[in-house]
Amino acid sequence: MSAQRSPELAPEFAARVLHDVSMAKHTSWHVGGPADLFFTPRDVMDLASFLRQLPAEVPLLWLGLGSNLLVRDGGIRGAVISTHGALGVLARLSATRIQVEAGVPCARIARQCVKWGLGPAEFFAGIPGTLGGALAMNAGAWGDETWRHVVEVDVLDRRGARHTRSVADYEIGYRTVKGPDNEWFIGARLEFERTPEVNTDAIRELLDKRKQTQPIGEWSCGSVFTNPPGRHAARLIESAGLKGFRIGDASVSEKHANFIINHGAASAADIEAVILHVQQAVKKSQGVTLTTEVRIVGDPA
Ligand SMILES: Cc1cc2nc3c(=O)[nH]c(=O)nc-3n(C[C@H](O)[C@H](O)[C@H](O)COP(=O)(O)OP(=O)(O)OC[C@H]3O[C@@H](n4cnc5c(N)ncnc54)[C@H](O)[C@@H]3O)c2cc1C
Repeated sequence: MSAQRSPELAPEFAARVLHDVSMAKHTSWHVGGPADLFFTPRDVMDLASFLRQLPAEVPLLWLGLGSNLLVRDGGIRGAVISTHGALGVLARLSATRIQVEAGVPCARIARQCVKWGLGPAEFFAGIPGTLGGALAMNAGAWGDETWRHVVEVDVLDRRGARHTRSVADYEIGYRTVKGPDNEWFIGARLEFERTPEVNTDAIRELLDKRKQTQPIGEWSCGSVFTNPPGRHAARLIESAGLKGFRIGDASVSEKHANFIINHGAASAADIEAVILHVQQAVKKSQGVTLTTEVRIVGDPA
């Protein structure tokens, strides 16, 4: 790694920051080149201290479970902040309100809410990411979405200062969230209703339904494209005859046309080439521009 890629870090962090970490180990597509720096904080205070001492010019990528990220084969310049396994507090604040840190997996929120008799939180069960990723994406399923439940969020800015923001500070849309620049989520307070009748069978049923229609268990990032207004991306892709379309070891799923599968040896470039081909083919055959839901980051090989 070049000196330029290895900034001066305070001694307490120099030993704990990993270098040249393969992002293929941290994304559900199992592709992606190395991150220059990779940091897993001990807790929020530790993360704030890390940000305070990190030179301002080092770019940041915040990472949850990497279930909505295509990291290119050349990897990430700068520092990756990994919240999973780090910011893990999940607590009940009142009869209907909970506190969740950004690294908590959505599936855990769903299960714990059922135990507390709170809902509707079952939709979180099918989202294989963290709360931080769900806040960044406004992740949703089965007619519900993350920000419908947000009361307030806690964020850190680039200098490690903590702020509490209200929903009004954000523009929330379908799989988009626009808020103040250079701030990232460390947690949120979420509101649900008392639903003592809901049990884990409800979650199991929803997950079973998903298994019937989606290639769960294969390497993917879920739906690659957002649904254009009034249309279904999967149907548009299927109508364009693209199910099974393959480049290298990446292909459009036969089971759900909005999923692209890495069959084991795909590169990020293979996946990106399939994405581009699908966009061009759907535009040509149906006149519709598909926009990616998945976030594409990093340098080409
Ligand atoms: C099989 C499968 C099924 C899926 N089904 C659904 C579904 O039904 N509905 C749905 O909405 N999504 C679905 N997804 C996509 C994905 O799980 C969601 O988008 C999820 O919210 C991403 O969370 P993550 O923690 O993995 O985020 P990552 O993939 O790690 O990151 C996604 C984006 O969020 C940013 N980010 C992550 N953490 C933070 C933070 N703390 N603060 C600020 N920004 C942050 C990242 O920088 C990146 O831009 C599915 C994915 C898979 C693999």
